[in-house]
Amino acid sequence: MTDLWLPHWAPALYESLHRTPELGFQEHRMAKTLAEVLSREGFAVTRGIGGTGLVAVLDPGPGPVVAVRAELDALPLQKHTEAAFASEVEGVMHACGHDLHCGAGRGGRTAGGPPGTAERHIILILQPAEETGSGAARMIEDGLVEAIPRPDVLLSQHVSAMAPVGVLASTPGTALAAADTLTVTAHAPGGHTSSPNSGPDLVLFAANLTQRLHTVVSRDVPPFEQAVVSVPALEAPSAPGLRAPGVSVRVNIRTFEERVQAQILDRIDSILRAEATAPGLAFGKDVRLTHDSRVPRVENTPWVRDRLAALHEKRLPVRHLTVPPALASDDVSLLAQAFKSPAVYWFVGSGEPGGRLGPVGPACATLTPTFPTGRPSPSRPPRCERPCWPGWPATWTPTAPHARKPKRCGRSLRAYSTRRLTLILHSNHRLDPKPSDTDAKLHALPPHLMPKTHNPSPTMPP
Ligand SMILES: [Zn+2]
Repeated sequence: MTDLWLPHWAPALYESLHRTPELGFQEHRMAKTLAEVLSREGFAVTRGIGGTGLVAVLDPGPGPVVAVRAELDALPLQKHTEAAFASEVEGVMHACGHDLHCGAGRGGRTAGGPPGTAERHIILILQPAEETGSGAARMIEDGLVEAIPRPDVLLSQHVSAMAPVGVLASTPGTALAAADTLTVTAHAPGGHTSSPNSGPDLVLFAANLTQRLHTVVSRDVPPFEQAVVSVPALEAPSAPGLRAPGVSVRVNIRTFEERVQAQILDRIDSILRAEATAPGLAFGKDVRLTHDSRVPRVENTPWVRDRLAALHEKRLPVRHLTVPPALASDDVSLLAQAFKSPAVYWFVGSGEPGGRLGPVGPACATLTPTFPTGRPSPSRPPRCERPCWPGWPATWTPTAPHARKPKRCGRSLRAYSTRRLTLILHSNHRLDPKPSDTDAKLHALPPHLMPKTHNPSPTMPP
């Protein structure tokens, strides 16, 4: 097995991608840049699969086919960081680390060693629009499965501030939840607010609906199941003095079990029918429910995951820990289903070096305007003031009765070294020392809390 290596220009590539973010299906510049870089590295690049998606194939030998998926898209967030490589695009930024994943995907070239020594057949799948859960589906519709050999293993990773730098984390079996996105729309003639009795009030309808949707998990889902029903967006554009003529309510559902998912969808349908026909709010057929996207849960093939975790610890100066499944989601699950390939998805810690595993305050996390440096602009407080869990809930760690109580995070918001993150993703250059064995044991889960495997995989071959 050859050593990993890192080209000196890789951090600059990441910073360049971070400066110029693009939203889903608009990632033309990013796709072009990566296509040029990968072509120079010897990959055969095919662009335009699923809109802005691309695949890059390196086929130097008879080894197994290893596919690595990374995402191209950024988020509609306004940057709030003083990083020298901050987004230069107003209202758009790589707050989810997809630029980091793409930079690391390029590092797939290094998995086989320096040029001329690669032993594997490596495929990079760079997909658009992961944030909307639609990019992987679009690539599949556009012939991705027929365009490349079937991967013997499909790998994907996501940066996470819930683990410190130097820690990788994954789950054998079910790793991430399924996600459904629905939109309720309603229309009415509108009218003047001075005559409320002259027609239905769509804002009141949306407010009542939102309240009742938030009772679905608490009242209809068995308490031993895990699920989330949230209303991330509600729009009812109007003018002062006018009742809104239209409203839309976005609903997002996260589940692990299909029976729970079906139960929630049924319940939402009944609540919507009840609210749409409530006295004074009868809209009839002007209320519609659309199912915008459906992403299955992410399943890690246990024996492949265990091998990979062991390999990470052997080849890199990191720890690879076992963590419970998360209610996040990722449409890489559609790729794994389409290829019918064993798959592994893991998290790469970007939290403060030496920190603990577990949720952190929004100001410290991904999906925030200060990612990835954690360094806000001077107008922001220098420390995180949000309530944070200092570690996993106490049932998962013997360390911390104090972990039961959220307290001020107080984390320094100084820069996490982006250069170091990049190095961790694809090199064995000198890094921080591994967390101690003691730390790893503290975070080990007791057997009864180990995640369930929904689709048992074959046992590990010799
Ligand atoms: Zn993401």
